[in-house]
Amino acid sequence: MKKYFVLLTMIVVVSVSAQTDNRFYDIIESVSAQRLEKDIRTLANFGTRNTFSDTLSKTRGIGAARRWIKAEFDKIDKNCNNCLEVFYQKDLVTPKDGNRIPKEAYVVNVVAIQKGTKYPNRYIIMTGDIDSRNSDTMDYTNDAPGANDNASGMAGTIEAARVLSQYQFENSIVYLGLSGEEQGLFGGKGFAEYAKKNNWEIIGVLNNDMIGNIEGVDGVIDNRTFRIFSEPTPVTETEKERNQRRFYGGEVDGISRQLARYIHKAVSTYMPEMHPMMVYRLDRFGRGGHHRPFNDLGYAGVRIMEAHENYNRQHQNNRVENGIKYGDVIEGVNFEYAKKLTAVNAIVLAGLGWSPPEPKNVTIGGVVEPHAKLKWDKVADDSVVGYKIYWRLTTSPQWEYSRFVGNTDTFELKGIVIDNYYFGVSSVHQNGQESVVVFPSAVMRSTTGK
Ligand SMILES: [Zn+2]
Repeated sequence: MKKYFVLLTMIVVVSVSAQTDNRFYDIIESVSAQRLEKDIRTLANFGTRNTFSDTLSKTRGIGAARRWIKAEFDKIDKNCNNCLEVFYQKDLVTPKDGNRIPKEAYVVNVVAIQKGTKYPNRYIIMTGDIDSRNSDTMDYTNDAPGANDNASGMAGTIEAARVLSQYQFENSIVYLGLSGEEQGLFGGKGFAEYAKKNNWEIIGVLNNDMIGNIEGVDGVIDNRTFRIFSEPTPVTETEKERNQRRFYGGEVDGISRQLARYIHKAVSTYMPEMHPMMVYRLDRFGRGGHHRPFNDLGYAGVRIMEAHENYNRQHQNNRVENGIKYGDVIEGVNFEYAKKLTAVNAIVLAGLGWSPPEPKNVTIGGVVEPHAKLKWDKVADDSVVGYKIYWRLTTSPQWEYSRFVGNTDTFELKGIVIDNYYFGVSSVHQNGQESVVVFPSAVMRSTTGK
């Protein structure tokens, strides 16, 4: 009897540990609120990081800021036996390019790439912004500390590089500092075009813009909730694809949305104390962020940010007016919260870094039949142990049901009717990691003549 009990306990322990991977808890623990504070202070102390500010000073302006960011990436590179490729990527903008460009200047991004061991051309990208602004985005001389907007996202990106550079990944991870955000998303546009030109396969972009404020302008204080913005479907889809949705569904199942669901699931698994809030839209109402230029070229990308914004602390000159303090200063940043959102990014980058390529040509069938059927192209990778089919009610925001179906390229779900659910397929690595879920892109018609 005792023997049976011991055996049973062991089985339970093994099956539980197979569901989670302790490396993720280590990664979460390794993110440092102290280092984030130090970096956010350093960035805010450059006075202004307006894209058109001084580039020659060693202590003030965007030039000093980007050289410091590059130096930090170089330091991290040294500490990981040169695991990073660090470089500047830049594009010239002139007043002809937009009405928030006061003069000709280079929009300079700082890039650090941790190359994947198996799939160097598959990239997951984490971004923060280098640049800042005050009340007048054309004012490139007066103070614009941009402590939360967006030194927080930039510092988070550097900190994620520190932590994850201690690991190796099959896919490449990019830690990216972008400029020109406040002037019209120019850095993201330039870098997305750079990726396209170099035929990068992008798994997803995590744009971090304002990840440190926990006190909303309405007084709500919340250090657990954060938002994941994702557009419903790619803007690059064809007329035909748009038409097909009318008959097959998929209005809320574009590639960026699947990435958002992946993040939600990772956080629910490894950081259950957090409350990720899926927002079913590209960005805040009528406002922009640096994931959009990537979306514009058809790449999956989301915005990760605080849940409660404080408008007195963003895009404001530092001042006191009618007893209200305005300005994006260091006092408005909660470093423990920035640590949590940085950890959210780090576990997603790691999970996707260790994940296999997703199945291609996912096709669905089962029209006027009692069973839904799925078919896909297998991934040519010996580490893939099989595939997982997901489904959910059409009104559910998250995948509700799943079934690991083994190393096959087709499967019939007995008794699950195609009409009542949405479906998707992921590939599963022997290490337990999964690709992002792929929504079917084609329909199989019945071959039985029904
Ligand atoms: Zn801003």
